[in-house]
Amino acid sequence: MKKILLAMALLPAFTVATRAAEDKNFDYHVDRFADIEVLRYEVPEFNDLSLNQKLMLYYLSEAAQSGRDITWDQNGRYNLRIRKLLENVYRNYTGSKETADYKAFEKYLKQVWFGNGIHHHYSTDKFTPEFPQAFLEEQIALLPAGSLPLTQGQTVEEFKAEIFPVIFDPAVMAKRVFQDGSQDVIVNSASNLYGEGVTQAEVEAYFDSVKVPNDTTPISYGLNTRLVKKDGRLVEEPYHLNGLYGPAIAKIIYWLDKAKGVAENDAQKEYITKLIDYYITGDLKLFDEYSILWVEETDGTVDFVNGFIESYGDPLGMTGTYESYVNFKNKKASARTETISGNAQWFEDNSPVDPRFKKDEVKGVSAKVITAAMLAGDAFPSTAIGINLPNANWIRAAHGSKSVTLENITEAYDMASHGNGFNEEFVIDQPTIKLLEDYLYITDMLHTDLHECLGHASGQLLPGVDPDALKENGSALEEARADLFALYYLADPKLLELGIIDNPDAYKAEYYKYMLNGLMTQLNRIEPGKDIEEAHMRNRQLIAKWVLDHAGKGKNAAVELVKKNGKTYVQINDYAKMRGLIGQLLAEIQRIKSEGDYKAGNDLIQKYAVKVDPKLHKEVLERYSTLDIPPYRGFVNPVYHLVYDDNGNVIDVTLDYTEGYADQMLRLSDNYGFLE
Ligand code: ZN
Repeated sequence: MKKILLAMALLPAFTVATRAAEDKNFDYHVDRFADIEVLRYEVPEFNDLSLNQKLMLYYLSEAAQSGRDITWDQNGRYNLRIRKLLENVYRNYTGSKETADYKAFEKYLKQVWFGNGIHHHYSTDKFTPEFPQAFLEEQIALLPAGSLPLTQGQTVEEFKAEIFPVIFDPAVMAKRVFQDGSQDVIVNSASNLYGEGVTQAEVEAYFDSVKVPNDTTPISYGLNTRLVKKDGRLVEEPYHLNGLYGPAIAKIIYWLDKAKGVAENDAQKEYITKLIDYYITGDLKLFDEYSILWVEETDGTVDFVNGFIESYGDPLGMTGTYESYVNFKNKKASARTETISGNAQWFEDNSPVDPRFKKDEVKGVSAKVITAAMLAGDAFPSTAIGINLPNANWIRAAHGSKSVTLENITEAYDMASHGNGFNEEFVIDQPTIKLLEDYLYITDMLHTDLHECLGHASGQLLPGVDPDALKENGSALEEARADLFALYYLADPKLLELGIIDNPDAYKAEYYKYMLNGLMTQLNRIEPGKDIEEAHMRNRQLIAKWVLDHAGKGKNAAVELVKKNGKTYVQINDYAKMRGLIGQLLAEIQRIKSEGDYKAGNDLIQKYAVKVDPKLHKEVLERYSTLDIPPYRGFVNPVYHLVYDDNGNVIDVTLDYTEGYADQMLRLSDNYGFLE
């Protein structure tokens, strides 16, 4: 998986108290509109870095933001001009700000900022303005024609005729990424990754003609080009210093070069040099060479991604959208994952699994935990919480990949959920709420670490067993295996001995949340009458329902569903017994996998993972609807300031967290508006 998304705000609905946050009064909430909440994130331990490391982060942040307009233009050919028009109206508006039209206009602009264009960042549907065309027309009439983003020789009337349908007509450019394969996905996509009039068949034929057959180290074809039709022929227009997006790329190069000057080691200098060469030439072979140097550099504290990386914006998955993540290693949290991976053999040897299904020699997967310092391009304002790069399969196979978790982003999501009413609505009593507040954050993180570093890496197939024997249930059962491994060891005294947890009861927070989520709250993502389809959701319900089913009845039940005031709650009476059940199910699912027992696996899935109790489902949906939890969230970045001494030397870099959403967006347009 390339990118771990926290697409719905439902996952981090729990709250916590113990964490690395430096400022207890840090305000995570910035703005709220439409289906969006904007948060800010803290950059803990920034002040512990050396001046050179801080400067490197500063220069890389400047490089990151310099590419902002590229993302906007890639997302749609009118986006930059529409943004200029809307911001012009917004800045010069003198009427009442209390009218419905103005409020609708402001909401629309905030949506456009969040989408890096006129389409929703997640659904990719075009936004619908809730103000009339007449409102915008009146506002345009008040502005000097010279301040409008007209093209060469265009009149204001021509400009309106060109732009208004793009904003107001729902049929024009309706979807940014059109994926219905029964129609032409290129012609029907509104993005600007392909030229006007280019068809899907033409794109496919073009790339078939240029691809080198039997190439074991292929370049990422089309990654940094717009394919357009010129005089009836298809040509690629590459993004580079002297090509498309040159003015923005020139700035990126300038700041990358400054970062190189303060890099921590020669390996960093080498990969930055290679990245600059790639930006100068657009040569994708250089991008591959850069990716290899980058993935192999693991000594530095500061790290970053900057380029045309993920191709979700292209229905054919070829062209990368500009993005940048600037970050530095979270040493404390990375020590946690290194400790876990370093003890992988102990965990394997002591698991409740039949010895025949265990690995004699297991190697934990090491994942780095990082602190995000700047999000930009396609990673802003909406961002991933984990990244795994590079994307080229042959580079991953031969040189590995970097897998990282953005802990301060996860933390901000979590902290911002505090007080959203979720715990009060769904958690059974005050002591359990307190348990979750104290320990869910750390045990959730540990669960992910154990799942990723050990769970998937553990166990072995018996000789001759087909790895695909579990067929369509393979991924749900594999996720269940990794989750069970993690849950089983969360309650193990070994974690105390290793010093990664400080309370033997902490695991109860994760156990409670896991049961609540698997039995009830995840149903909020299922439409009434539908079954559970998604593999992770099936896995969670499988585990939770199986444990409930085997927990015993009446007074002796380890776990039960109880009614209070007509509402259903999860009640856990015996956590130790629940851990025993987790161990039993882990042993059974490992057996199913090791033996390739399709029938037993399918029986488990059908009995526990797919079907939904319609009455409980309805209750969960109703209780959720009373809470005000926004479906999508994103971030503003901190503002970086250089501090000088009296002689004009930089002596420090400081962070300012006070900037609001609209202010940040307008400042970015002022300072990084490098494209027309
Ligand atoms: Zn997994």
